[in-house]
Amino acid sequence: MLFRLLLILSLLVASPALAGKRIALSFDDVPRQRGAFFTPEERTQRLIAALARARVRQVVFFVNPGRLDLPDGVGGEGRIAAYVAAGHLIANHTFSHRSLNAISADEFLTDVDRGEAWLKGRAGYRPWLRFPYLHEGGTDKAKRDAVRAGLAARGLRNGYVTADGVDWHLEQLTTDAAAAGKTMDMKALRKLYLQMQIGAIEYHDAMARQTLGRSPAHVMLLHETDLAALYIEDLVTELRSRGWTIITADEAYRDPLGKAFPDVPWAGGTLTGAMAWEKNIDPPLSPLWISESVATHLFQRRVLKETASQ
Ligand SMILES: [Zn+2]
Repeated sequence: MLFRLLLILSLLVASPALAGKRIALSFDDVPRQRGAFFTPEERTQRLIAALARARVRQVVFFVNPGRLDLPDGVGGEGRIAAYVAAGHLIANHTFSHRSLNAISADEFLTDVDRGEAWLKGRAGYRPWLRFPYLHEGGTDKAKRDAVRAGLAARGLRNGYVTADGVDWHLEQLTTDAAAAGKTMDMKALRKLYLQMQIGAIEYHDAMARQTLGRSPAHVMLLHETDLAALYIEDLVTELRSRGWTIITADEAYRDPLGKAFPDVPWAGGTLTGAMAWEKNIDPPLSPLWISESVATHLFQRRVLKETASQ
């Protein structure tokens, strides 16, 4: 009996695949525009409280300091400080959220520097850069490499993601529905949010395992949304029931994945997706709701109870 127990324990230690699935949470576009349900201040308070109730010790918020000048950015500096006071991290999402695919390497790095000028030296700061739209230069490899070199020269690393459930799209659908005065079935909305996020995470983990031969420390892309404020505790509970451990952003970015700079024809998206492409891995089929148009259809049918003819 004891021998068998020791054998099982040694297998668990020896095999990363059995050591459990790990994921950190990240939230982009801070301070983000308001959503359908809360003021930006209420959203921050609810998100902090929900993460605390869920016993999530540390997430990272990727900040666009330029958003502080927008109408919904008023008071944003205080809200960012509140996240940090609750134990969370902040990092750079560029000053004004411009796509690297649309501007030059120099213009992009200037936007990065403006972001750093606001962030560096603040409590909770980490030298991580999350590319807006996950655009890393598209087909322009010279631009991609110039930015990679520019970030390295600044001591910045890629705040990459390995899982993306297009939560921003569902948030937009709720914002549009609220603006149009439509009634939303909140139970159906919760279910759709959880299905989309869990489906995306499990899909990206399957792809990562196929590509790397192991389950990496994942980083989930989320946004500072009302939906996160409403459902992040439920998402964490559901993930744990499926064998996931929520890890800190610090732990996730210690994964050897951070040393990967895949060379693919189109630079952008999830890091593990690019690595799968580079290795010519045939990935598992993605769940349908990763497609924005399918998510829109499901939202209209389930949450708004609209029929196909409307
Ligand atoms: Zn963004």
